[in-house]
Amino acid sequence: MKPNFDQAQLQAVGELLKVPAKVVITTHHKPDGDAMGSSLALYQYLKNSGHDVQVIAPSDYPDFLYWLPGNEQVINYDHAGGRAKQLVQEAGLIFCLDFNAPSRMEKLGEFVVASGAKKVLIDHHLDAEDFCDFNFSFPTSCATCELIYYFIVALGGKQAITKEVAECLYTGIMTDTGSFRFSSMTADTHEIIAELMRAGAENYTIHENIYDNFSLDRTRFLGHCIKEKLVVLPEYRTAYIQVTKEELKEYNHQSGDTEGIVNYALGIKGVKMAVFFCERDHLIKISFRSKDGFSVKELAASHFSGGGHRNAAGGRSTDSLDQTVQRFLNLLPEYKSQLNPV
Ligand code: 5GP
Ligand code: MN
Repeated sequence: MKPNFDQAQLQAVGELLKVPAKVVITTHHKPDGDAMGSSLALYQYLKNSGHDVQVIAPSDYPDFLYWLPGNEQVINYDHAGGRAKQLVQEAGLIFCLDFNAPSRMEKLGEFVVASGAKKVLIDHHLDAEDFCDFNFSFPTSCATCELIYYFIVALGGKQAITKEVAECLYTGIMTDTGSFRFSSMTADTHEIIAELMRAGAENYTIHENIYDNFSLDRTRFLGHCIKEKLVVLPEYRTAYIQVTKEELKEYNHQSGDTEGIVNYALGIKGVKMAVFFCERDHLIKISFRSKDGFSVKELAASHFSGGGHRNAAGGRSTDSLDQTVQRFLNLLPEYKSQLNPV
């Protein structure tokens, strides 16, 4: 959906960008297609405008995103913390993209918050916290990449949408809308996609780069999850999958391998909520998805220190995997009237 940017804030950011600036662009921990797509699109635009720009990812991210133009200059905080801290300290301007609270940057967050740089938030998550000088927070937008499109066009005109910018933006809109199918996808967004294709983004190449690039291990892991681990609870119209660290190891887990598996549980007829519980080193990471009006964001925020969107949310737990799943199961009666009204 087209955002109505605050013109005074937009002008103020435009003023800051009239002279060459040292810019850092960052995003959330474990960045996805929209996080990296929006960061690298803005990177390309600001670099083309003569700024000194650096993208810092708070952690690693899936290798099916490595083809994105500009990826080679991205710094990963987990691998180059010292350099990342220095860049954040020296920056005049920091863009925070595709997240709503400093905690989503994990360890990098405290340095970004402490930096004297002017900070700009561009994001589409609900309930943005007030930690930036300029806020472009639009929860009705389908993707941060959509907001970056409008932001670049507002500052630089349509000619600023180069092929590289278009490829990055197409990627984020595609991945955050489930390939253009979610209710967040509007006619205006389809028009943006058309503009991006006119600017040189090849739809078939991008889909292939992102979706036809799984390792054999990941494909077998998906099979294991569906055949051996999927549990369906018809009474609650809920399906869930839980996987242990040992299972991840057995299938040679790489960053991004668990992404999207929850959607297979959601794809079952009659299922209204799907959950994927994944045991990591020191915590359980949980992915929630839902159909219709059921809000997994509320459930994730109230019980699993998380949040997100109504139909796609995430959370975490420091209990054991079994305890976490049991805690979730114990909650279901409370939500039964919403999940399966009689
Ligand atoms: P995923 O299940 O793909 O990791 O996350 C789905 C959505 O939930 C993300 O787009 C993000 O908005 C949100 N999300 C995931 N993990 C967290 C979390 O730990 N905290 C909050 N507030 N949101 C999360
Ligand atoms: Mn996003």
